[in-house]
Amino acid sequence: MTSRRKLGKSDAKEPKDIKENGLELEEEIEEIEEAGEETEQPEQMEQPEQPEQPSEETPREETEEKARAVLPGDLIGTSEEYSPRNGTYVDKGNIYATASGIVKVNAKDRSISVIPVTKTPPHIQVGDIVIGQVTDVKDSVALVEIAGIKGKGEREIVNADQAAIHVSNVKDAYVKELYYEFAPFDIVKARVIDLRNMRLTTVDKELGVMKAYCGNCRAVLKNDNGKLKCPKCERTETRKISVDYGTGIV
Ligand code: ZN
Repeated sequence: MTSRRKLGKSDAKEPKDIKENGLELEEEIEEIEEAGEETEQPEQMEQPEQPEQPSEETPREETEEKARAVLPGDLIGTSEEYSPRNGTYVDKGNIYATASGIVKVNAKDRSISVIPVTKTPPHIQVGDIVIGQVTDVKDSVALVEIAGIKGKGEREIVNADQAAIHVSNVKDAYVKELYYEFAPFDIVKARVIDLRNMRLTTVDKELGVMKAYCGNCRAVLKNDNGKLKCPKCERTETRKISVDYGTGIV
């Protein structure tokens, strides 16, 4: 959306700042909240909408701001009330924040978004630890939508959202089937190893799946001595899990 881009770019000229923060690992994203059954639905329009006026330069005029600070996973509205936009996701008709930030409601098109608290949009660099959600698992790669960089805030990343974990970068052991290591909707912690192809690795004990959902009933799987077990239907699944699985600690 145009108004977000304006907001996001407004103070994006501090590459030095980004570099200095590059290796800071102190910031912990404390909660990786429900990612739910559905992925984002960015273009869900429920009401006839007026075309946007390109002449309007100031997003403030069209944006009714509720100064409401939210954390990832916080319920911010329903898809009946709003069209979910950046920094949000929809699960069962509820709209949740994917980022820490301020809720913005655009009164004009009834859209809702979360403006991240980080002022400078971070650039991903090789060596960064990222958090993301698995969107697809193929024979040789798992695709990951990057949601945040450790130590750099959680959203509005400048250079890439989509990344891949190749089967050779999953763990320090032979991977028979990638489907045994990752599944769609998994929340993963991974390290960036290649920017050009946006490749990630999970080879390391603290890297891997942080949160996974039962393929049968969607409940959050519990770590039971290295195996993941569904507390509801008792199904067990395997993943390349992080030692931090289930802790929410990034
Ligand atoms: Zn289950």
